[in-house]
Amino acid sequence: MTSDCSPRFVASDNTSGICPEALDYLIQANASDDLAYGNDVWTHRAADRFRELFDYDCDVFFVFNGTAANSLSLAALGQSYHSVICHELAHIETDECGGPEFFSNGSKLLTSSGEDGKLTPKGIERLVTRRSDIHYPKPRVVSITQATEVGTVYTREELLAIRTVADKYDLRVHMDGARFANACCALDASPAELTWQVGVDVLCFSGTKNGLPMGEAILFFNRDLAEDFAYRAKQAGQLASKMRFIAAPWLGLLESGAWRRNAEHANAMARYLSEGLAGLPGASLMFPTDANSVFVSLPEPVIAGLRARGWTFYTFIGAGGARFVCSWNTTTELLDQLLADARTAFENV
Ligand SMILES: *Cc1c(COP(=O)(O)O)cnc(C)c1O
Repeated sequence: MTSDCSPRFVASDNTSGICPEALDYLIQANASDDLAYGNDVWTHRAADRFRELFDYDCDVFFVFNGTAANSLSLAALGQSYHSVICHELAHIETDECGGPEFFSNGSKLLTSSGEDGKLTPKGIERLVTRRSDIHYPKPRVVSITQATEVGTVYTREELLAIRTVADKYDLRVHMDGARFANACCALDASPAELTWQVGVDVLCFSGTKNGLPMGEAILFFNRDLAEDFAYRAKQAGQLASKMRFIAAPWLGLLESGAWRRNAEHANAMARYLSEGLAGLPGASLMFPTDANSVFVSLPEPVIAGLRARGWTFYTFIGAGGARFVCSWNTTTELLDQLLADARTAFENV
């Protein structure tokens, strides 16, 4: 179906532009020259702010995107003959084109199902204990996505229960934090409470989806695992020579508190949309709207009707259905238009 309206963007949080705080710092960083490859003042300052925010002396690295952050950090957590346990809907399994396997030289991903996009201790244990012979890729890592691919969040208790099973089987814990800020807001928790305090070894914290032009931070709480990581990132083509232009916008988020405000706003917009959609007869929400994504099951003609009105959204992500994602600049006006168009589309079914 072709669109007869100009596009309106609710497909992902990366359709939004750069938030003002990040842009302000980007321009500030452009005012004077500085050293390359992360030896500049902005990168050092941003790493220090992360250590303050997380209240932990972690090792911090910056890369361009989330696939690299996940792939390279997972590669650092095990050997090529190890395996990584993740949910069957995990981005590392479904959306990274084999990057984690490639950068680890062959580590296999072992997937588990689980309600609401979440791994469970039982599911993890089942994969670990299924085999113990030399022909099975030895489980070494559990990867958790926070918030999950279907817009839910792991509570602290759920994270602790996963850490307990990880300890039992000597597994390391990796967190894909593409929407980590949204999870902190959803749970009204501090970054520390959702990471090292519940035994996360490494966090990939997305700035892109929070309002940066680009850039992800990788935080190693288990600093032994960060040994030689800088070389790994360089070899993979992820060492930015003008790293200050990734770090400075990050600093804009961290020093102004925008990282949390942006996520708070995105979550509030998703709740607003979720409540509106729940009120439409014939629409049914597929998952609790804990963070900034709304998954809703809609009849095919309604989906086509929305597309014809210019709405951009995906229907192949997670468990199917339509996915709408809110971001730092989503407005209630936009969502009211979406709801009105959905109502009209239902009337025309
Ligand atoms: C967006 C996203 C990423 C990162 O994707 P890139 O396009 O590589 O930056 C990672 N994990 C999840 C769950 C995501 O939604």
